[in-house]
Amino acid sequence: MENLMENLCEKSSKILITDNHMHLYNNLRLKALKQFKNAGGTHVFLVSLLSTHYDLTPLKGSDFREIFDYHLKLVSQANEIVRAFPVLAVHPAEITILGEKLGYEKASRIMMDALELAGKYVEEGKAVAIKSGRPHYRVAREVWNLSNRIMEHAFSVARDVGCAVQIHTESYSYRGMEEIAEIARKAGLNPEKVVKHFSPPAVKEFEKIGLFPSVIAGNDNVIIAAKEGRRFLVETDYIDDIKRPGAILGPKTVPRRVRELYEMGYEDIAYKICVENVEKVYGVEISV
Ligand SMILES: [Zn+2]
Repeated sequence: MENLMENLCEKSSKILITDNHMHLYNNLRLKALKQFKNAGGTHVFLVSLLSTHYDLTPLKGSDFREIFDYHLKLVSQANEIVRAFPVLAVHPAEITILGEKLGYEKASRIMMDALELAGKYVEEGKAVAIKSGRPHYRVAREVWNLSNRIMEHAFSVARDVGCAVQIHTESYSYRGMEEIAEIARKAGLNPEKVVKHFSPPAVKEFEKIGLFPSVIAGNDNVIIAAKEGRRFLVETDYIDDIKRPGAILGPKTVPRRVRELYEMGYEDIAYKICVENVEKVYGVEISV
């Protein structure tokens, strides 16, 4: 009887740890998730990469099907290790990669069509979210305007299918993020459904802006964020690139940082960022 009680307690107190943004590419692949699991990780959002990572040049939106299907297969293998959720990306840098080859107007058409395709996968229950954004590097005015239109289109798709959008953007600035929140509202999407990937721990400012921050778990970011509030997610942006092993942060980072929160008495915040916030933003179940 005593044993049974102990088991029950152990079960109910199992720590749930979610990395909101990770990739599997050409280095550790599924071994990265084994490391994540061994460090205590339980849930992960796996994001598909740029077309160049798959040696593809999409000439039309539907050419992204190959990327998405490949990614979903990988995520289903990942699910044998931890609970993994697929996010389908049309990375904002595609505008440069495809635009230089095909022209920027054409590139933007392809990207918008690909985002619609990603939305269909979400509708069919194959993926939980899409990823868009705008370039993190300087581009010509024309390319910037097109990128904003593509991102707005991603927001419309997300509104229609009822999912969240992870965004990859320029570095954080209050004004820039406010502008993006405004574009989301214009598209009829609650900015709460827009997850700013690679966020600094500016939790209070994000509360005012409305976008949902996914804090990059480097340095003391997670602790700083926890001192500011509880409305955030955490990520490593582990890229799994053989040329940059460990970049951006290694797969064990989020479990380590979340365990630190428990040790420092922030268990309610740890639960919030790994379970409740994730459930609220993406509409997935973590706590079962
Ligand atoms: Zn990433």
